[in-house]
Amino acid sequence: MTLKEEALGLLAKFYGYRSFRPGQYEVIEAVSGGRDAVVLLPTGGGKSLCYQMPALLARKGVAIVVSPLIALMQDQTTALVANGIPAAAIHSNQDEAYNRTVADAAFAGKLRLLYISPEGLLQNFDYWSRLDISLVAIDEAHCISQWGHDFRPDYTALSLIKERLPNVPVIALTATADRLTRDDIVQQLHLRDPYCLIGSFDRPNISLRAYSNPGAKQRMRFIADMSRKYPQDSGIAYCLSRAGAESTHKALTALGIRSACYHAGMSAGERDRSMRAFLNGSVQVVCATVAFGMGIDKSNIRWVVHNNLPGTIESYYQEIGRAGRDGLPAEAVLFYSYGDIVTLRSFAEDSGRTAVNLEKLARMEAYAEARVCRRRVLLSYFSEERDCDCGNCDICRNQPARFDGTILAQKALSAVMRTGGTAIGVFTLVNILRGQRRSDIVRAGYDTIRTFGAGADLSQPEWSDYISQMIQLGVFEIAYEDANHLRVTPFGMKILKGAAHIELSTHVPPQYNAKGRKGEKAVPEETNADPVHQLMEQLKTVRTDISRKEGKPAYTVFSDATLLDMATRRPTTLDEFLQVNGVGEKKAATYGKRFLSAIRKFEGLGAGTPAGTSLKETLILFNTGMGVGEIAATKHVSTDTIYNHLAQLIEQGLITTFGTIISRKEYEDIVNELKAHPDIAYDVLKERYRSGMVAIARAIGRTKGVLQPAKHTYLQ
Ligand code: ADP
Ligand code: ZN
Repeated sequence: MTLKEEALGLLAKFYGYRSFRPGQYEVIEAVSGGRDAVVLLPTGGGKSLCYQMPALLARKGVAIVVSPLIALMQDQTTALVANGIPAAAIHSNQDEAYNRTVADAAFAGKLRLLYISPEGLLQNFDYWSRLDISLVAIDEAHCISQWGHDFRPDYTALSLIKERLPNVPVIALTATADRLTRDDIVQQLHLRDPYCLIGSFDRPNISLRAYSNPGAKQRMRFIADMSRKYPQDSGIAYCLSRAGAESTHKALTALGIRSACYHAGMSAGERDRSMRAFLNGSVQVVCATVAFGMGIDKSNIRWVVHNNLPGTIESYYQEIGRAGRDGLPAEAVLFYSYGDIVTLRSFAEDSGRTAVNLEKLARMEAYAEARVCRRRVLLSYFSEERDCDCGNCDICRNQPARFDGTILAQKALSAVMRTGGTAIGVFTLVNILRGQRRSDIVRAGYDTIRTFGAGADLSQPEWSDYISQMIQLGVFEIAYEDANHLRVTPFGMKILKGAAHIELSTHVPPQYNAKGRKGEKAVPEETNADPVHQLMEQLKTVRTDISRKEGKPAYTVFSDATLLDMATRRPTTLDEFLQVNGVGEKKAATYGKRFLSAIRKFEGLGAGTPAGTSLKETLILFNTGMGVGEIAATKHVSTDTIYNHLAQLIEQGLITTFGTIISRKEYEDIVNELKAHPDIAYDVLKERYRSGMVAIARAIGRTKGVLQPAKHTYLQ
C-alpha cells in the first residue's frame, strides 16, 4: 500500500472524508518523510489534518502540539477523541493528578497526540524530550513574530526544539501572516528547508460589507436583525473597548436577543462561562473585544459584525474567518467611524512600533473605504494575486463608476522604477507625479526623471486615492521592513509591460456622515420551506439533544456541513450513513441510530432502525478498539447483548481475533466442557462464567470446527 492509500484509508475511517483538500496531502507526505513544514491556510482551511494525519501515519510515538490557548486544546482533543483518535492535553486548568495521568499515558505510548502550551513544554523540556516524538506541531505560529499582530514572548524560545531535537520534523501552522511574518517564522524556529503550503486565503462563502458611521441604534438593530435571520445559529459582535462590548450586550438584551460578554476585564471564570454558553448555543451572540475567539472552532457561526474598525487587516481577516467554517454562506459586516480611526491612531502611536502599526492601520482604513472589490483588497494584502472581482461583496454588487486606469498605473509604476525600485513611499510618489519641486525631491534628483510631473492634471487627493486602489489591487506592495516604501509586484510588472490592465473607481471625496453609503435592506427574507431545510432543522434538533445529554458543544457531534450532506443524501441504513461527508466509523456507530431514526421518520419509513444496524454498530465500535463494557455503555445496552452480537459476528467470520474478548484458557475450559458434557454443560458453565462468554466460546469453537455448527439444544 502506498502512503497515500494508507492516508486515505485513515481519513475515511477516522474523519469520514473521502479526499484531501488541495495541498494537504503534500504537507502530510513531507512531514511523514521527516521534513519541516510551514502551513499557511485561512481559518477553516484544514490545517489540523496536516499534523494529525502524519501523527496517525507514524503508528507509534506521540505528536507534540504546541498551542497557546487552553480552550483551543480542549476543542481539538474533544474533536479527536470523538473521532476515535487517542489524544489529550496538559494544561493548568486540570489538576496535577490528571495531568500526570495524561503524561503517563503519553510515556506509555498510548497517545498519538499531546497538546501542551509553550511554557509547559519549555519549562520541562528535558522531560518531554524523552518521549518518543513523531513530530512537533506549532499552532498559531505567527505568535513567534514581532511583525505579526499577536506577538507572544513565550513563543520565541521555541527555537530550542530544532536545536535539541534536530531529527524531529517541526510543522508550523498559522492562519494569518503577511510575507514578512512568514519569513520570520521560518527563521526563528530554525526550520530547515521547510515544505511550504501557502493556501489560498480566499473564503468565498463569506460575503463582505462595510458601512461608514452608522448610529449606535442603527448598529444594534442591525445585529438584532442578523440574530433573527439565523435563529438556529450564532454570531459575534466585535467591539473596540470593554465598555463597547458591555453596552452592546445590554442593548441586545433589551431587544430580546440572548447574548453574552467577553473581554479582558472579566474574571477568567466569567469569561469561561460566556465561552461555554456560546459554544453550547445557550446564547446566540457574543459581544466581545479582540480577546475573544482565537481557536474557536464552532462551525455554525453565520455572521461576524465589527462595531468598530479593527487595527490591522490580519486581525480583521482572522476575526471574520471564524464565520462560515462549514463552508456554507456567512456574512461579515464592518461598521467604522472617524472616531475609531482617531482611537486606533493613538494606540498605534503608543505601541512602540509606531511606523509599522500606523501603516497597517492605514491599510485597514483603505479596506473600509475601498471602492474596488473588497475581497481583492484582502487577498492582495496577503500577496495573493487575483484578476477578477468576487461578486460577493457590497462593492461588486453595487459597482461604483469605473474607468480604465492602466495608463495612470503605468505612470506610477514607471516613477517607482525610475527612482530605484524601492526608494520611495506613497507621499513622495504623489509629489513626483504631480511635479512638486519640494526640497527633498530636488535633493534626490527625482525632478529630473521622465515621469516627473507626468500626472500634474490630477489633484493630490485623486492620486492618493488611485495609488491606494492600486495597492489594494496588488499593483504595489508595501515594504514594512523598509520604511514603508512601495515595491512593484509581479502583477505590477505585467501592467508596466502592457500585459495586463486594471480598472479604477472614479475618485469621490470621502464622507464620514451617515449619508455616505446607504445600506441595503438589512434583513432579506429567508425561505426555508424546501425539504432539505426542513430535515436539516430536525437533524439539528437531534444534534442539540445529544449535545445537551453529553454536555459537549453541538459542533463536536457533527458540523452543519455534515448535517447538510446528511439532509441531502438522506441515508436510511448505517452503510449509507457512513457515506455522508464527515461521518467516520466511530461517530457512525455512536450516533448513527439516532439520526437514522429521524431521517426514516421524515421519509415516512418505520422510525426504528433497519435490521442488522445494531450488529454492525457493534462491529464498528469493536474495530475502533473499544472493550465490551465501553461498547455496551456507548449503546446503552447490557454487556450480554454485546457478547451476543460478538458471538454472531464471530460465526459470520467478521471478527477473527478474539484475544480482547476471551482468554485462551477460558475458551479452552468452556469448549472442553461443551465437548465432554453437551447435555449438562450449560448448567455447569453458567455458574462459573457469564452466559455471554459461553456464547463467545461456542461461536469460536464452531468457526474452528471444534464444535458442531448444527443447532444445539443446551443453550436455550
Ligand atoms: P483550521 O485549523 O485550518 O482552522 P480545521 O483543521 O479545523 O481548520 O478544519 C476546518 C474544517 O474542515 C473542519 O471541520 C475539518 O474537519 C474540515 N476538513 C479538514 N480537512 C478536510 C477534508 N480533507 N475534507 C473535508 N473536510 C475537511
Ligand atoms: Zn467583490
